Amino acid sequence: METQVRFDWAAIADRILSGGEAATAEEALGALRCPDEELLDLLAAAYRVRRHYFGNRVHLHLLLNAQSGLCPEDCHYCSQSRISRAQIARYPMQSRETILAGAERAFQLGAATFCIVTSGRGPSDRHIDFLCEVVREIKARFPIKVCCCLGLLRPDQAERLKQAGVDRYNHNLNTSRRFTPRIVTTHTYEDRLQTARTVQQVGIGLCSGAIFGMGETDEDIVEVALALRELGAESIPVNFLHPIAGTPLENQWALTPQRCLKILAMMRLVNPDREIRIAGGRELHLRTLQPLGLYAANSIFIGDYLTTKGQAPEADYRMIQDLGFEVETRPERGG
Ligand code: SF4
Repeated sequence: METQVRFDWAAIADRILSGGEAATAEEALGALRCPDEELLDLLAAAYRVRRHYFGNRVHLHLLLNAQSGLCPEDCHYCSQSRISRAQIARYPMQSRETILAGAERAFQLGAATFCIVTSGRGPSDRHIDFLCEVVREIKARFPIKVCCCLGLLRPDQAERLKQAGVDRYNHNLNTSRRFTPRIVTTHTYEDRLQTARTVQQVGIGLCSGAIFGMGETDEDIVEVALALRELGAESIPVNFLHPIAGTPLENQWALTPQRCLKILAMMRLVNPDREIRIAGGRELHLRTLQPLGLYAANSIFIGDYLTTKGQAPEADYRMIQDLGFEVETRPERGG
């Protein structure tokens, strides 16, 4: 009979907070397999670590899908891929005015970061030219961080984004090296790592996270959490798969609210001082337990996701207020 290894989550938090090692692979696996009746102990440990580094602040992001669908890649989780039959809006690069209006909305909603996302394998040089101009204009008009998520990037493209003032670049590892070929065949895990490193080399902050609930094992989840730590991602979006009808993963419904909380707590204990964001699938999978997620994570998206709806910003503000938490204030202009 398999014996359940018990972990003292409070002692693990003590160790981390006294400058010791972050959660080991064994502890991370233990967090994922933590019995439901011990979930609050695990979450309390994650919260102590979160509070130490981020207080009760919640960093808000707003994203704009600046180019949707029509992607030649075959990421199985994505409604915008060439193999997706999902009913979504498909459109080429949005106008300068539309992107600027998105930045203004982000500013008005109190978001500290505005994320410009485009579908596709990677940006053309023409799109880099265009986006650099738009980013310069956003930075001149609003005191807001700008994150771009444009796919695989060459070093010269990354350098130009840096010069234009892009603060962060999102490029997710998504899952473990082992599981990657099961969810995409048109690019490799190594391709993703390469872009992540390219971004870091030019001095842009790396935002890199993962998607859970795609059929991966606990070991895959731990592997990607450790890989993100090794990579030094400063911001880690934790996505929970939204199985969109018409995508290859449309029937992959494996997550429960408790499972999502264990993943978030594990991510915090493995990456103690990193911005951890509850990203896509938050409302769908955490459901009424959404507020508990913020005891481990310190960041969320307000507004909609790429091709799915999020809850109204007012509901997020109320959740943050009910928790006794506060929205993180924006950096000063140029900060
Ligand atoms: S995740 Fe990005 S690269 Fe993959 S199919 Fe979707 S838009 Fe294309």
